[in-house]
Amino acid sequence: MRIGRTLPPTASPIATWQLLRAQTGMALGQRHLQRLEAELKDYFHVNHVFLISSGKAALALILTALASLSPRRQVLIPAYTCFSVPSAIVKAGLEICLCDVDPESLDFDFGLLERSITQDTLCAIPTHLLGLPSDIDRVKTICEQRGVFVVEDAAQAMGGRHNGSFLGTLGDVGFFSLGRGKNITCGSGGVILTNSDHIATRIQAEYAKLKSEPRFSVTMGLLGILAMCLFMDPRLYWIPASLPILRLGETNFYNDFPMHRLSGARASVLLGWRERLEKFNAARRLIARELVRRLPSGNQMVRFPGGAQVAPLRMPLLMASKRAKDELCVRGRAAGLGTSPLYPTAISAIPELRGRLTRTDFPAAALVADCLVTLPVHPLVRGKDLDALCALVNAFEVGSSQENPESAARPFSRTGV
Ligand SMILES: *Cc1c(COP(=O)(O)O)cnc(C)c1O
Repeated sequence: MRIGRTLPPTASPIATWQLLRAQTGMALGQRHLQRLEAELKDYFHVNHVFLISSGKAALALILTALASLSPRRQVLIPAYTCFSVPSAIVKAGLEICLCDVDPESLDFDFGLLERSITQDTLCAIPTHLLGLPSDIDRVKTICEQRGVFVVEDAAQAMGGRHNGSFLGTLGDVGFFSLGRGKNITCGSGGVILTNSDHIATRIQAEYAKLKSEPRFSVTMGLLGILAMCLFMDPRLYWIPASLPILRLGETNFYNDFPMHRLSGARASVLLGWRERLEKFNAARRLIARELVRRLPSGNQMVRFPGGAQVAPLRMPLLMASKRAKDELCVRGRAAGLGTSPLYPTAISAIPELRGRLTRTDFPAAALVADCLVTLPVHPLVRGKDLDALCALVNAFEVGSSQENPESAARPFSRTGV
């Protein structure tokens, strides 16, 4: 167990005064919700916005709405993504189909995407993993001519842009997550965005059936945010990090989960979100750019678009082996540097999905699950943390490659798959 300065892998700080203001949100809830909805429409230039209890609830609602517009039942997703995505597909009563990923972009492997689409494909879900933009234009070109909807998973990319347009607004419909560890947070929440009146009408019909979050759950949620605010501080983060019962950083598959409208209290935690989103994303961009500059080019194994438009959530590194990744994570954790793996396995290896998938061989997704490590780039990372992170990765590469070339960080080579 480590005692002392410890960075969380991700952080979107909330000030205590914002939480206190959330108390008034209990009373002014409806007004705060309407205001948040109007601000989101205005900022992201979309006609329709729906506020809901989580990102996975947002996706489940989108899928239910799309399924009411078409007899097709398959949902095509990257074989390496957040486990909440298949959870939402199961919740919506639809079928999960996987397409392998490109380890250099973490996007779909476009050589495989076309072949993965069938007569029964309802929609594809391109994902801006870690805020790295998926090539939505390419996905749209492939999907449009086949009558397949494009649902953009921008859960980790709120505020990021591509060719000047906001991620999350490029597909037929998109969503953000406001959960812990996302670009901005109110503990738990989700945003659905679309410019399609047709899809919005169906979403509205489903949304109208949802109840608001129960009062007890709102109160517990606010206490959770308070605890998060206190312990996110790197001086205190070692405390929750050393409590296995909190299961921090664990990735879960949910057979079921609650679906509510976003509560007014949570909406009021988000007041002033635009300034915070821009400030946090700018800080993340700056730190990520610094990491890209200071890590040897051999370490930038995932193509990292350093453009001013990208809003990275964490900095991905693809190590040469699982052993190398594990070692880097262990050393980083011992030094309190917030190094962390992403999802533990490919979607095809989730035990709860056994029997639900027709194919389970997704070598690139398995490789990413084994070898991907992320470095923190959030606003709590300081200059000396950056120095330590670079020293860790660099020393690691040099040190371990002498004893054991296997564990060196080196560019991913496609021929190695
Ligand atoms: C977090 C996340 C989700 C789900 O959002 P929740 O708010 O946690 O339910 C979906 N997709 C991706 C890529 C995510 O990172």
